[in-house]
Amino acid sequence: MAVDSSLSSPLGPPACEKDAKALRFIEEMTRNADTVQENLLAEILRRNAETEYLRRFNLGGATDRDTFKSKLPIITYEDLQPEIQRIADGDRSPILSAHPISEFLTSSGTSAGERKLMPTIQEELDRRQLLYSLLMPVMNLYVPGLDKGKGLYFLFVKSETKTPGGLPARPVLTSYYKSDKFRSRPYDPYNVYTSPNEAILCPDSFQSMYTQMLCGLLDRLSVLRVGAVFASGLLRAIRFLQLHWSRLADDIESGSLDSEITDPSIRQCMSDILKPDQHLAEFIRQECKSEKWEGIITRIWPNTKYLDVIVTGAMAQYIPTLEYYSGGLPMACTMYASSECYFGLNLNPMSKPSEVSYTIMPNMAYFEFIPLGGSKAVELVDVKIGKEYELVVTTYAGLCRYRVGDILRVTGFHNSAPQFHFVRRKNVLLSIDSDKTDESELQKAVENASKLLLKECGTRVAEYTSYADTSTIPGHYVLYWELLVRDGERQPSHDTLTRCCLEMEQSLNSVYRQCRVADNSVGPLEIRVVRNGTFEELMDYAISRGASINQYKVPRCVNFTPIVELLDSRVVSEHFSPALPHWTPERRRR
Ligand code: AMP
Repeated sequence: MAVDSSLSSPLGPPACEKDAKALRFIEEMTRNADTVQENLLAEILRRNAETEYLRRFNLGGATDRDTFKSKLPIITYEDLQPEIQRIADGDRSPILSAHPISEFLTSSGTSAGERKLMPTIQEELDRRQLLYSLLMPVMNLYVPGLDKGKGLYFLFVKSETKTPGGLPARPVLTSYYKSDKFRSRPYDPYNVYTSPNEAILCPDSFQSMYTQMLCGLLDRLSVLRVGAVFASGLLRAIRFLQLHWSRLADDIESGSLDSEITDPSIRQCMSDILKPDQHLAEFIRQECKSEKWEGIITRIWPNTKYLDVIVTGAMAQYIPTLEYYSGGLPMACTMYASSECYFGLNLNPMSKPSEVSYTIMPNMAYFEFIPLGGSKAVELVDVKIGKEYELVVTTYAGLCRYRVGDILRVTGFHNSAPQFHFVRRKNVLLSIDSDKTDESELQKAVENASKLLLKECGTRVAEYTSYADTSTIPGHYVLYWELLVRDGERQPSHDTLTRCCLEMEQSLNSVYRQCRVADNSVGPLEIRVVRNGTFEELMDYAISRGASINQYKVPRCVNFTPIVELLDSRVVSEHFSPALPHWTPERRRR
């Protein structure tokens, strides 16, 4: 489409008038980042002045940044736990926010083993929607013609519960997909999905995935981009195709839906979409029956221009596997968001994964940044290029000076808004999918399994470390154990060690167990027993590379290839968890 030259934007010529408006908005927000932040904080403080939380700090009606920062402490989730529990239990008084809390968003970050509950208010949905509406206008600057086809996106809802006071508690994306904003979205030629809403909204993950894959296959030549939220999710879809291509091809050949798909709304909508196609069925069989799956994405969906999937942060471990399956297609990381608040977007989405930077949008919340190793938080526009910071947010929903737990490095500025490279999440040792296991959780799990080992055969775990093994799909946790078997004592049996694996899984947090049980996105935990003396060799290796003998500590997680290779070369036996750990959607009461 020819675009009126008056629509030109500093970011580039927009693809259509609607895009021009979105790009102008980005320009306006980023040019005036400091004023937007100042006004936004004042608005939050005015509106929430009478909340129990803000009254506690005697702001005396002040809405300026200096007073706010001098009177309110920087907090973590644990500090807010009592208030959050009261809201969850049904207290509707204005505790954190003057606007009623409409639901809780269940974060993948945990507290005491359970997902954190993030309060949100109705209007936050508009703010999230606004950020989504900026993504395609930016993408259209780099990839032309996305209105000529569709996106194959694997999107899922997860189970939800109600708090004792009756508020829904569910992941932010589940909340979004179930909202009218998503379900009744107006037609937009740049944002057409192959997956019908009925498939995305089906709570049964097998039926949902099966239908989304089937629709992607049926419409394969229209697909211009393939995506999922995180890289792990896209790989799970590829694995699903590996396991089920034959059934999918049968359905395409016969034009009738597999009997395991029982969801009535899926069956209803598929009756219009699924028609017998012998030729396509044969093509899928030919492509999928071969052992070689290299480049499968581009072979099945040959018009794909890029993968739309987050491969920054913990997801970077999947880049080589995605490159293998996609024949090296570009990977676009479009946005940076959380249950607390959506933060910003990537203004250069076709950049290499290692160079991805997110521009924080100053209209989403009030942002502060604690320099690493420092304590005084600085403003959004005052961060320095090259420095690392911990992100702190103040949201409309009532989080005030809340530590998100993400570490970001400033890479540059777009106008006066800084751009950040996502460095890491604080205190996360192991992660495969949305699970995040910290050092103390891992320690507790090993302790519990050690008790079992001691009881059954008197053996102790002398040393341990861990590794996130993503060479299989799904990936799984590996625990390297060196055992202290004294003279005359029995070696633990394979059966005991497999039960130690399960014991560890039972001890890990609810997000890990949900990934194992409901999402099937994490495989069985494995113990690899290494021979005596291995951890001493590990120390020798670290010292040879410059570590101090006095200060040497066994790393509780390893990912440096030579170390993993050293450990693997000393393995004497391998044991996998024999069953699924316990998990239900219900939360444990504190
Ligand atoms: P949740 O609380 O479950 O919504 O998870 C939000 C967290 O996921 C963020 O605080 C980040 O740690 C991580 N995250 C979200 N978006 C990205 C991204 N684009 N790159 C890396 N990590 C991300």
